[in-house]
Amino acid sequence: MTVKILYFLFLSFITCCDKSAKEGPVAVRPSEDIDKDIVFLHANVITMENDIVLGDYSVYTKNGIITKIEPASSLVIPDPVFKIDATGKYLMPGLADMHTHIWYKEDILPYVANGVTTILHMGGPSIILQFRAEAAAKQIISPTIFASGFVDGPGSRGWLATTAAEASTAVEEIKNAGWDFVKVYNSIPTDAYTALMDKAREMHIPVIGHGVRAPGMQGILNAGQVMIAHAEEYLYTYFNNTTDEALIPSAVTMTKNSGAYVTPNLVTYETIARQWGQPGMLQQMLAQPEMKYVSPKWKNNNWGQFDFTRRAGNINAQYDFLKIFTKKLSDAGVPLLLGTDTPFMIGEANGFAIYDDLRNMVACGLTPYQALRAGTKTAGEFINKYVVTSRPVGLIKENYKADLILLNANPLLNVENVKQRAGVMINGRWLSEAKLQEEMERLAKSF
Ligand SMILES: [Zn+2]
Repeated sequence: MTVKILYFLFLSFITCCDKSAKEGPVAVRPSEDIDKDIVFLHANVITMENDIVLGDYSVYTKNGIITKIEPASSLVIPDPVFKIDATGKYLMPGLADMHTHIWYKEDILPYVANGVTTILHMGGPSIILQFRAEAAAKQIISPTIFASGFVDGPGSRGWLATTAAEASTAVEEIKNAGWDFVKVYNSIPTDAYTALMDKAREMHIPVIGHGVRAPGMQGILNAGQVMIAHAEEYLYTYFNNTTDEALIPSAVTMTKNSGAYVTPNLVTYETIARQWGQPGMLQQMLAQPEMKYVSPKWKNNNWGQFDFTRRAGNINAQYDFLKIFTKKLSDAGVPLLLGTDTPFMIGEANGFAIYDDLRNMVACGLTPYQALRAGTKTAGEFINKYVVTSRPVGLIKENYKADLILLNANPLLNVENVKQRAGVMINGRWLSEAKLQEEMERLAKSF
């Protein structure tokens, strides 16, 4: 701690007494964890408002907020400030993973270490509300957490809604406990679903989640559900389990007209398709290097409930169909969100899976900008629209949250370049890549 304070004093001395230091060399330690006012100097800035790269810009952050974006030549740097030399690097907003299920504290770090600075929790133990508070207070290295309370019909793992009265109570309890959203699951009966939606409207809490089977896709979109959590939900509630492309236009139109967001979550469908009827595939997946950062509680316990390798046949045609459907949704202007369903889904590493979801978006035919937009601008719009208390997020823009990724390569040329990190800023706190990797190794050793 003393060393850190001395270091800051030393840095302040340089910046306050040598005005030419504005363009001078930047002190970079091998491992950094800096929580103070920061300027990124000479960056290629990708604001994500559009697909333009602003060459040689500087971005200033203060108290966790982006306060200034200017051509590097015109920026006057106030003192004291920590400078990050971003020459030749690319600065973009942090990514949002809009479909996660965090159960354990050790699930959280890998998101940040992979550039994910916002997550939406889609159901699980209510300890997430404690993690959300700890993240907001910067007590843990964590993305900003938004959380939904899980509601289902008979046999629910969360709140139960088999009748209208139960559904109404569930919404009341979820809202009063401070959850940001209600998440609905498959088996809620139509009467209960209607009551749930009425109560949610009355209590001003948005409803997101699965295609609830009884009311069906048309019913839930008409009722005002604001997000569909997987593209595959349309297979079960609109496409009648077929891959009939003739049904796509009407599905796209009704979704577009409803204003609902869709989280295609293709990484999950792809992961399941790869395992389906393929004994041995799971072992291959578990041998991936990133699996060492996944909690053994998932690998040894929770994941045991799945075994897709013993299923007959394959679901490759459905996977291809969902890619076509996702492209049509995108073409029609339906707002799409990145989301991975981690760490819940067997064979997907939390944090790392965001690259696979991006890759899937591009495989559908989206441009890298469109794919990245699903995890930045659009996710931010969704949060800004439905969580009124949250600070704007998802763009590099003044007064937006200082959630940023600094990259060594241009992600608009290839989404894989999102892996080429120099560091991540989370809520104004700068974590260099060296620091992040140090934390990740500590995490892996703790298992
Ligand atoms: Zn899920």
